[in-house]
Amino acid sequence: MLGSLSYAIDGSDLLADLGVGWDEFALRNDAPELAAERVVGLPIWGFIHGEETREVYRRLFEWVRASDARIAVPFRCDSPDLFRFMRLELSAGGDGRIAIQSVLELEKPRRHLSLLDRAVGRSEEELPACSFCKRVLAQGRWSEPEVALAATGWAACAHPPLTREVVCEQCQLMAKGLSRSEA
Ligand SMILES: [Zn+2]
Repeated sequence: MLGSLSYAIDGSDLLADLGVGWDEFALRNDAPELAAERVVGLPIWGFIHGEETREVYRRLFEWVRASDARIAVPFRCDSPDLFRFMRLELSAGGDGRIAIQSVLELEKPRRHLSLLDRAVGRSEEELPACSFCKRVLAQGRWSEPEVALAATGWAACAHPPLTREVVCEQCQLMAKGLSRSEA
């Protein structure tokens, strides 16, 4: 279980207020390099992968600060064995500070998906994957990875393609809607 994780960024986008839950999260995900004492004060941008994804968060942070808003961004944080439906709550805290809370809404088991297994070797192929909804772009359409892998024949390959984090059109629209409707 990922549960819920609270932290903040200051007016310069530096990580702050990493509480007890943060270290638990780092340990549970086998990522001691993310321990609070190592990452506090670092720019959040080093932890958000993909230029398109960073651009979406840049706009959302800008909106939250400018409008003193509180918004909830739906996203998936899947693992090889779980679908995880999450939401990221962003709320303005004054002086450019943003309180961030990631909340697990629903978790469902899935058949082990090697595409999401960091220990598995990769082929030369590259598969665009949306940072928010975790769908992948294969044969011109966005679909759940299980569907895409079956359709392309990659499901049977020992080495799945390498994923590249992007933002699909649907999630671009979702993010645009979030930074407009809360005025
Ligand atoms: Zn998406």
